[in-house]
Amino acid sequence: MATKILDFVDGQWTDAKSADLLSVINPASASTIAEVVMTPKEVVAEAVEAGQKAFRDWRTTPVVERVQYLFKLKMLLEDNLDDIAKIITNECGKTYKESVGEMRRGIENVETACGMPMMIQGYSNEDIASGIDEHMFRQPLGVVAAITPFNFPGMIPLWFLPYAVATGNCFILKPSERVPMTSAKLFELIEEAGFPPGVIQLVNGGKDAVNALLDHPAVRAISFVGSTPVAQYVYSRATANGKRAQCQGGAKNPVVIMPDADMDMATRIMADSAFGCAGQRCLAASVAITVGDAKNTFTEQIADAATSRKVGYGLDDVQMGPVITKDSKDRIEGIIEGSTNQGASILVDGRGQSVDSYDDGYWVFPTILDNVDPKSEIAKTEIFGPVLSLMHAQTVEDAIAIVNDRGFGNMACLFTESGAVARKFRYEADAGNVGINIGVAAPMAFFPFSGWNDSFFGDLHAQGRHGVEFYTQTKVVVERWPREWSRQF
Ligand code: NAD
Repeated sequence: MATKILDFVDGQWTDAKSADLLSVINPASASTIAEVVMTPKEVVAEAVEAGQKAFRDWRTTPVVERVQYLFKLKMLLEDNLDDIAKIITNECGKTYKESVGEMRRGIENVETACGMPMMIQGYSNEDIASGIDEHMFRQPLGVVAAITPFNFPGMIPLWFLPYAVATGNCFILKPSERVPMTSAKLFELIEEAGFPPGVIQLVNGGKDAVNALLDHPAVRAISFVGSTPVAQYVYSRATANGKRAQCQGGAKNPVVIMPDADMDMATRIMADSAFGCAGQRCLAASVAITVGDAKNTFTEQIADAATSRKVGYGLDDVQMGPVITKDSKDRIEGIIEGSTNQGASILVDGRGQSVDSYDDGYWVFPTILDNVDPKSEIAKTEIFGPVLSLMHAQTVEDAIAIVNDRGFGNMACLFTESGAVARKFRYEADAGNVGINIGVAAPMAFFPFSGWNDSFFGDLHAQGRHGVEFYTQTKVVVERWPREWSRQF
């Protein structure tokens, strides 16, 4: 019988017996590896109430004590890294190395939040007028929740959880129903770290659980990561209900290759960026724009890199795994098929391939579409698979115009050896995360993950200081203590 993934509410693993179950599928074998409860709204409400109850003591627990639980969690995550990475690979499809890499970035957020005694500090001025002082304190909000996507089941919950609880909030996670096993493992470790009941809780499920969080009046803030249409929906409903919201959406990330770039380095990094995690990264390079003479060399080299990439089950010795579902495979293959009607040519075709012993897996091999028209629909559509579109420009100005003519603004990168071109690009590119000679410009935990435009709805981003500001409300205290009052003692 498949393992049943439960909720973790008020310190207990909870089985909502009436809940529907959804199969969790290993995308490499297409076999069912678990079943997850689709949590009904009543259980979500129980979790929110347990969070409210726990908040009374948690917010008065000194921050130096709150972070002790995070130090413990960090050690448990390190000790269990291998197990967690294997779970990620089995339910999400990426390679073992990619799973370990994702967890490293997640753990980095736990480490950063351990510095909360300094990060949460306010500021003060003495004598704003004679005998009057003014202070700013940061106080937690209460119960907060995060709704996360399938593609980084270990890392993305940790973009939020450590900051939320270190600042004194009680946190509820609603992970993607397609990859709930990683969160279940994470919560075993959270339980072992000894957080008080109700401080960190897990509710599984889909749309109904999300709506229950968005509508519950006691949930004060919502963090979301996923596709743009859902990000927009979550942002509108959360804010209409008076909540804070930070909603990260989809992406289509362009990379400009200048003729003076180190072509070997650019090709190697671009292949990792476009085809790593089977292209299912919100920071995947999905468009390469060559400038001038870069066209021929880069096109030839990237085609070789795509063709030679080793694809298979992520626990074997491979460089790329499957895409997440059969629907996803069908959708990606449909986009490849339709690309020629929009003027593109298929330079490397990753359709119709199979992997020995994994015949039923959701395989799409690395694919390259050449001469994609920047104005065409595929040029602006998030494919979210291992498909790289090539465009060709004559000048850096033309390339930057293509970079900036799109709805998304998650990431833009440039390969060059010219500092002046790099500065121009960094200054003008319409994106919140910019890479120079970098293929995946993923900010470290102590920088904000700065998506722009249709890639982000809200103002404060995930991670670092933005996380601290998002999860706290400022209280300003102005106090008058006239000097003459001390004379009586
Ligand atoms: P998704 O939008 O389908 O799902 C994300 C979350 O929303 C899940 O927890 C899901 O249960 C929930 N959800 C789905 N449909 C819903 C609905 N109608 N109402 C309420 N909740 C709903 O995204 P996904 O397919 O899991 O993840 C891939 C997407 O996430 C891609 O678009 C990718 O670019 C994006 N992403 C963005 C970032 C970023 O930092 N900007 C990071 C990772 C992934």
